[in-house]
Amino acid sequence: MIKAVRGTRDLLPPETALWNFVESAVRDVFRTYNFQEIRTPIFESTELFARGVGEETDIVSKEMFTWEDRGRAESDKGNSLTLRPENTAGVVRAYIEHKLWDRGLNKLYYIGPQFRRERPQKGRYRQFYQIGAEVIGPPSAGSESPARDAEVLEMLATLLDRLGIQNWTLELNSVGSSAERAKFNDALRVALEPVKNQMCSDCQRRAVTNPLRVFDCKVPEDQPIIEKLPRISEYLDEPCRQHFEQVKEILKAVGVAFQENSRLVRGLDYYTRTAFEFTHGALGAQNAILGGGRYDGLSEALGGPAAPGIGFAIGEDRLVLALTESAEAVLRKPDVYIAPLGAGINKEAAHLARELRRHDVVVELGDETFRLKKSFEAATKAGAKYILIVGENEVTANAFALKNLATGEQVSVPRAELAARIQK
Ligand code: AMP
Repeated sequence: MIKAVRGTRDLLPPETALWNFVESAVRDVFRTYNFQEIRTPIFESTELFARGVGEETDIVSKEMFTWEDRGRAESDKGNSLTLRPENTAGVVRAYIEHKLWDRGLNKLYYIGPQFRRERPQKGRYRQFYQIGAEVIGPPSAGSESPARDAEVLEMLATLLDRLGIQNWTLELNSVGSSAERAKFNDALRVALEPVKNQMCSDCQRRAVTNPLRVFDCKVPEDQPIIEKLPRISEYLDEPCRQHFEQVKEILKAVGVAFQENSRLVRGLDYYTRTAFEFTHGALGAQNAILGGGRYDGLSEALGGPAAPGIGFAIGEDRLVLALTESAEAVLRKPDVYIAPLGAGINKEAAHLARELRRHDVVVELGDETFRLKKSFEAATKAGAKYILIVGENEVTANAFALKNLATGEQVSVPRAELAARIQK
């Protein structure tokens, strides 16, 4: 038997209804904040991610699905392509390629699959889905303003509330500018030198290549050492400190609760200033429901003009997992099962189904070859609220037997009143 590849999965009904519910709710929220959708390709040149995500990151150094494109012209041979592991690099590439700065401030969102070769577990897949957004534009359009950071964070709080997701925590930090981070990395290297041999093998490697990443370590024995390391907040210059203060002030003014977490450093190299994560208690080990931050130097790193920006990516798989408890309300069962009774009656039943569906009634349509008992069983299995009997007598009378499957109550309803009666 051929099975889905490890780390990938099929999304099946009824769960797909939850995915649709999530996507339509977030599109509604994006609309009121005046965000517009962008769709970029699922694969891009490997170089885009090497430069836009960072060679030193776990994503680029070990998680990308990359291949050589042999089918292309001789001159392009050896062109390395990669399935996108995230979407910010693609959006910023599109911003540069299509000179979107002409439009001033861009507020863009995307929904789509991303690919990372991670060890699969609950809430972690090799093909997963992200809902993300980017606010990006020239500095003259206000793209650097702390008001944009706060607006994005407030939108996320609204979005989670709208979806009925409770018990989320917003963790917030400022990771400063790249110059401050370089100083901080130096300080970390010094602080790690005498202790790194007592740490896990990942941390020993990080201590040399990218000391900041030590803060991602989850190994319990390493935590007391990490707790004593210097914090980025001690290295922020005055403009970064003030930027962070203003973000926090606006959040307080609009009533969005947050926790400062000076250990939060995020996974991508290009982040500057504001960095954040929303976590959710019910998700277990993979409890980050979304992450994001500011990336003021990314456009330049990709060969574009200065274009400060801030964005986030929500893990849609985890969002749906967090929703599963309250899922009942979202899953719409058939309102009515139409049971055609007797040879030649399918066409009458089809006509009736068409009328009811035009009134937004959810109809499951049976078949005239089914005996009444079988129709009742099918209606019950489908979870329909009513069964509607369409036999010759009913067609002649233009009134139909409508039975409530939960209460057993049965009434004869004239054709013109059916939709209203079913939806009552
Ligand atoms: P990141 O780009 O790593 O910050 O990811 C943003 C969000 O995407 C995370 O908070 C997760 O919710 C989700 N995510 C990242 N990697 C995976 C994965 N392998 N499987 C499922 N969700 C993921």
